[in-house]
Amino acid sequence: MTLRRSPLLALAFILNVSASVSADERYVTDNFVVHAPTKPMAKTFGEYAEKYREEKARDWLGKEMPRWQQRCPLVIEITEGRTGGATTFTFSDRQPGVLSQEMKIFGSTKQLLDSVLPHEITHTVLAHHFGQAVPRWADEGGSVLSENDKERLDHDIKCREFLNAGRGIPLRILFAMKEYPRDMIVLYAQGYSVSDYLIALGGGGLKGRRKFLEFLETGMLKGNRNWEKAVASHYNFDTVDNMQLKWIASLMAPPADLASRAKSTGSVSTASLNKPAGEARGYDNRTSAAPGLPQLEAPVLGTARGSTPRDEDRAFPTRGSSNTRPTYSSPNMLLLPPDLPSK
Ligand SMILES: [Zn+2]
Repeated sequence: MTLRRSPLLALAFILNVSASVSADERYVTDNFVVHAPTKPMAKTFGEYAEKYREEKARDWLGKEMPRWQQRCPLVIEITEGRTGGATTFTFSDRQPGVLSQEMKIFGSTKQLLDSVLPHEITHTVLAHHFGQAVPRWADEGGSVLSENDKERLDHDIKCREFLNAGRGIPLRILFAMKEYPRDMIVLYAQGYSVSDYLIALGGGGLKGRRKFLEFLETGMLKGNRNWEKAVASHYNFDTVDNMQLKWIASLMAPPADLASRAKSTGSVSTASLNKPAGEARGYDNRTSAAPGLPQLEAPVLGTARGSTPRDEDRAFPTRGSSNTRPTYSSPNMLLLPPDLPSK
């Protein structure tokens, strides 16, 4: 029996004073037992959970998942000032399959319904498809794909920032990682960027996602060390390093969202695309510049094998973080845990 937890990073300073309301009302759906502060809220989350369960399975697999044998407990905590969630899976060691799962999410109602819930539900789709632990980069990257436009753009921008700051993880290392690096947010941002790139490369939509899942399946062979074969047979790259070059090259263009804004409104100049990103989008002092000379350093491995980080411990500064921690460029930053917001 293997226990696996997939935390969603907390999105705000955990040190902030946060008010929360505990979950003591229950609502049961076909596949979930929802615990929430009020009955109407439990019902709403139950309905959304079922809706996303159907929708995300169709997005990724082209069909609904069969009804789960055991309902998944889903605990809703309404909090101010921090957002996150975690889904814990127990996998069978004897044959592919999920033995049990449970989900806990916390944040504002809107953020939970918009982003956190679809993210966590996507973890269940991937877990049920593979019946075993999914490589962390793809598990998180694929789940971030289910978040709203704003969160996805945010991860896209972060990925560019990390690459520019030398915090990127070489793909041959990222692909083979079974646990989170200490620089956890890099795995999320880069995992998202690479997943998005490969899905688009595979034709986008369901077609692109299916191809991506087949690629993962091949890569996961030989103890998650079959990636050279996987990139060659599914995407026609000679090597993983070669794929990395092409992926980086694709980031030379500005984030799609900003580009489309510039095109449709003329309100974003080329200069502002290559400098701080997002005044146009409200991302103060953040850089969405295409990576100039990205340096991909080996990651600092944080958690011990088999252990799983607690997402409650993993708060990272949200937008505007550049204001409080103005530079990511010092190589020393690689040695700092990313989860401790600086004052
Ligand atoms: Zn996640």
